[in-house]
Amino acid sequence: MSPRKESFKEPIVRVNTAKIRFPKMCPVCGSNVTKAMRISTVPGRKQWLRPHWDPMYWSGKRRFGMSLSEAQTFIVPVCEDHYYGDKSEWRHRLLCVVADGILMIMFFFAFLIMGSNFWLGRVNPFWVYLVLGVFVVAMALSYLAFKSNQFESAFRIVGFDADLQHVWLKLKNHKYRDVLLNENPMSSEIVSWIIRR
Ligand SMILES: [Zn+2]
Repeated sequence: MSPRKESFKEPIVRVNTAKIRFPKMCPVCGSNVTKAMRISTVPGRKQWLRPHWDPMYWSGKRRFGMSLSEAQTFIVPVCEDHYYGDKSEWRHRLLCVVADGILMIMFFFAFLIMGSNFWLGRVNPFWVYLVLGVFVVAMALSYLAFKSNQFESAFRIVGFDADLQHVWLKLKNHKYRDVLLNENPMSSEIVSWIIRR
């Protein structure tokens, strides 16, 4: 792959991976931190991974020492609200999308039947209420499933430079970004473009 330049409207942070110190504030809301989130990413792959998703993590290769080309792990302090552990949140989300789709159709029919019953002055069958109830619960669960996405949008690993000395972080919360820059005065800088190799 040939090097290509990538520009950012919102400047990102370039930090030395060995020296990085994360601020003691939540990257999402900026409040006090009580937990630490473990984020692993494999440089070269687009998305970052959780350790348990990473086949390398389980393959035992890890025990024999990791080369630089393998996973990089960061421990990021977060608040209670924006911490989500090693739950299978992606499976949960996928399930939500599928279930919501089916329920949306059922809800639509239930709504039609309710409407016609209303005009005809008839009593609604029990299942109509059941569908409405399940629909409301599913929407609430979906909201919770997608809410955990806040961390990912507030703290994103853009990538690594060629020698893996630096990581590029996209930090949505500007206060957090400034604190991180202040706490890593010698090893971080703000950049608006990168060269991806
Ligand atoms: Zn928070």
